Amino acid sequence: MSDLIYLDNAATTALDERVLQKMLPYLQGEYGNASSQHAMGRRASAAVMLARDKIASILGCTPEEVYFTSGGTEADNWALRGIYGANKGGHILLSAIEHPALISCAEDLRAQGADISYVYPDSSGIVQPEFVEKALKDNTVFVGVMSANNETGVIQPTKEIASLCRSRGIFYYSDCVQSAGVLPFDIENTGGIGFSAHKFYGPKGVGVAYLKKGSAITRLLSGGMQERGMRGGTTFVAGIVGLAEALSLAMENRDENNRKVRSLRDSFLDRVLSEVEGVSLNGDRKKRLPANANLAFEGVTGDQMVMLLDMRGVCVSAGSACAAGATTPSYVLTAMGLDEKVAKSSVRFTFGKNNTFDEVERTVQAIKEILNRVRG
Ligand code: PLP
Repeated sequence: MSDLIYLDNAATTALDERVLQKMLPYLQGEYGNASSQHAMGRRASAAVMLARDKIASILGCTPEEVYFTSGGTEADNWALRGIYGANKGGHILLSAIEHPALISCAEDLRAQGADISYVYPDSSGIVQPEFVEKALKDNTVFVGVMSANNETGVIQPTKEIASLCRSRGIFYYSDCVQSAGVLPFDIENTGGIGFSAHKFYGPKGVGVAYLKKGSAITRLLSGGMQERGMRGGTTFVAGIVGLAEALSLAMENRDENNRKVRSLRDSFLDRVLSEVEGVSLNGDRKKRLPANANLAFEGVTGDQMVMLLDMRGVCVSAGSACAAGATTPSYVLTAMGLDEKVAKSSVRFTFGKNNTFDEVERTVQAIKEILNRVRG
């Protein structure tokens, strides 16, 4: 399809052909509204029910605890606003490396008077449970620590944090957008999780919020009785069918996919770290997602590197945001204590099941060429 080398699989993935085939009927002939009472509606509703059951059995929860959303952002926002709203206030604790879907939402709540604090990771990017424990307050109502970070891929000790929160009766939420389909789900002691289909070869614009039964939470969207009255709006049947198929495929082939992606990533990392000077890996090497290599390159900014790789047909992303021409360092990397300069020179490479060793080779060559030229 493309002559580009796509190494930005943490941003999004290609739709799997098998997923597309499952979705197509619901975009064409089977276009019924899942809330309609007639035969067309009942067929759409049956497809959604089947998808919900599949997802519940993968997560290890009841179908009533699975809510369909438009993706990770919506799940994150809902959990935070919904729990805070139902508790009529209280302290919110987030890790400083959460996705903006939680951090911006928390900052909106702060502007309305909420008490928000952040817990920082150690230098390897891990949010230690004891740091979380120290930051809890008597009135903490929500703790959010993601399953794996989107920039560094570093895997967080969510099991320990979940049980700590459970023992204090605090709602623990884990953003699983990056880990869904890669790590096993573990919802024990967890109040809620969220994820998006497009990160595991499913469609964009559809995701899941798992919310533990009995959690006090306000509804997300007022409207019809879709999602048991918690999120009104016509059901995205094709997307939900696609999400369930994509997640089933990802979980069935998890070991094989992880092995393949890890060997591509490791071969890339081993080559770059041994053959290129002035390169370092950000974040723990072992406790990270198999797809992720986040590298800092001396003598070049991340944005420059992204642009120069793009000119050579390699798609990656920088761990920094370019605002009005000035590069701001990644808040995730600086939260780990990385020097601003190192953070500004970082690039995220994320591999996927469709990548090849030839692409690894061509990317390593492109990096060498760019650095030779830029560093003179
Ligand atoms: N959380 C994490 C960790 C993410 O990486 C992303 C997207 O990259 C999101 C939330 C938001 O997901 P979406 O864009 O599908 O709403």
